[in-house]
Amino acid sequence: MVSLVAVQPEARMSRTFERRGGPPVRPPGGKFLIGGAWREPMSNDRIPVIDPSTEEQIVTIGAATAEEVDLAVNAARITFESAAWRKMRPLDRGRLLEKLALLIERDADELARLETLDSGKPYYVTRNIDLKFTVDALRYYGGWSSKIAGEYLTLSPFFDDGGIYRAYTERRPVGVVAGITPWNFPLGQAIQKIAPALAFGCTIILKPSEEASLTTLRLGDLILEAGFPDGAVNIVTGYGATTGQALVEHPLVRKIAFTGSTATGKRILASAAPQMKRVSLELGGKSPTIILADADLDKAIAGAANAIFPNSGQICTAGSRLFVDDSIFADVVQGVADVARNLRLGGGFEEQTQLGPLISSRQMERVSALVASGIAEGAEPVAGASRLDRAGFFYQPTVLKNGRPDMRVAREEVFGPVVLAMPIKDIREIGAFANDTEYGLGASIWTRDIDKAHLLAEQIEAGTVWINTHNVLDTAVPFGGVKSSGLGREFGSEAVNSYTEPHAVCMRLDGQALG
Ligand code: NAD
Repeated sequence: MVSLVAVQPEARMSRTFERRGGPPVRPPGGKFLIGGAWREPMSNDRIPVIDPSTEEQIVTIGAATAEEVDLAVNAARITFESAAWRKMRPLDRGRLLEKLALLIERDADELARLETLDSGKPYYVTRNIDLKFTVDALRYYGGWSSKIAGEYLTLSPFFDDGGIYRAYTERRPVGVVAGITPWNFPLGQAIQKIAPALAFGCTIILKPSEEASLTTLRLGDLILEAGFPDGAVNIVTGYGATTGQALVEHPLVRKIAFTGSTATGKRILASAAPQMKRVSLELGGKSPTIILADADLDKAIAGAANAIFPNSGQICTAGSRLFVDDSIFADVVQGVADVARNLRLGGGFEEQTQLGPLISSRQMERVSALVASGIAEGAEPVAGASRLDRAGFFYQPTVLKNGRPDMRVAREEVFGPVVLAMPIKDIREIGAFANDTEYGLGASIWTRDIDKAHLLAEQIEAGTVWINTHNVLDTAVPFGGVKSSGLGREFGSEAVNSYTEPHAVCMRLDGQALG
């Protein structure tokens, strides 16, 4: 199991900074990987890559035009139809994914540093969590490539013509996939798109977030080195409204695998509808952390902090609404606020850093505005509630109390290190409070009472409910959301349905053939 979190007090004390003197970070060039070769962008439009810890420009990357998107999609389509790809043994597709996993392990230090530079998240997180999750996911899907199975069915015809009717199904790859990813786990998200797509026989065009594209571009080098057929994986960078939209609308793209905001997800769903494209959407959340009166208080406080603050709150399942039994409300709020005040913010390569910056000035404005709206509507800040007075997009871990479910900060996804605490007076109200949101991605329940835990878990409308933990992800467990948190599931056996379609063959056997 991989925990995305690393702010338990004991974990803070014991962590070491691996390979501080490791290889220098070499930002990749801003080319596009199309048909097995890196191509210079056609347009002079360059996207600045900003280090969120310093606000300084690192490099620029390209903005792919509709023409370049067309080239990438056609390359993916040609490979999808090629004998080299179609006839490749499933085990050999798995071996290619394993080879890529080995190359990522070889270059893990460098990739982690690049991710830290581009996204600001601490190096000990990128190296020990993001990279490990990435490699695990590749191995998990590599194993799946040889285990895709159909069914053999005995039919019950409503007539008797002397025949015996049977059917079999096979799972066929959907075709060319557009993988569109956000910036909060850039490399991990890229792998979450390419690994199942390739394992199940699709080909793919990746479009990473314009806010954090560098590790996806570097991944392109490793994909070439691993020896995938040219065009199996193509990578273009660019803005969502142009490059992303061109991909979504391209007629040869048969499936869109999207992770990002709910607003963009709705737009993509609408754009995909006229061509009936397959769409899977991993979207935003407003996940509740629920602490009952009988919970182990120390663990629940550390858990509530762990649910919201890692990655500076930029986690889709972040526990941004904290519901606490009235009898322990003050203690829990105090405890979480203490953790918040003691967390050390800083650049990702600074040794003491526990939390990095937000990704961008736009995100800083969003977080600041939502906190201000909460305070204006009556919430009381107990910790944080302002940005750090230094260069970089650093926002202090923030605890607001006196929250109400009708506040804007209780309803909108903040995607920052901000938790709104609300007391619960009656356990029978919890389900209704927790579900009073357009989202339904994750939730955690903290209690020592096994009956309450499971009965409450049944009430919660969310893709994942955690009990006495939060944000534990494993590639084997289906992941995704209900309501406005998404459509479909990634991970686990559910991914098979997402990247393949059943193809049924029905036959009549002559009942007298054997006499
Ligand atoms: P975003 O929606 O702004 O962008 C995501 C991606 O979509 C980017 O690559 C962007 O360029 C692209 N895009 C934007 N407009 C597009 C369009 N019209 N057509 C095609 N592509 C377009 O999201 P973000 O700000 O990068 O990421 C944060 C959001 O992602 C949060 O809401 C978070 O909850 C969500 N998220 C969800 C999950 C999950 O698994 N459910 C995981 C991580 C992040």
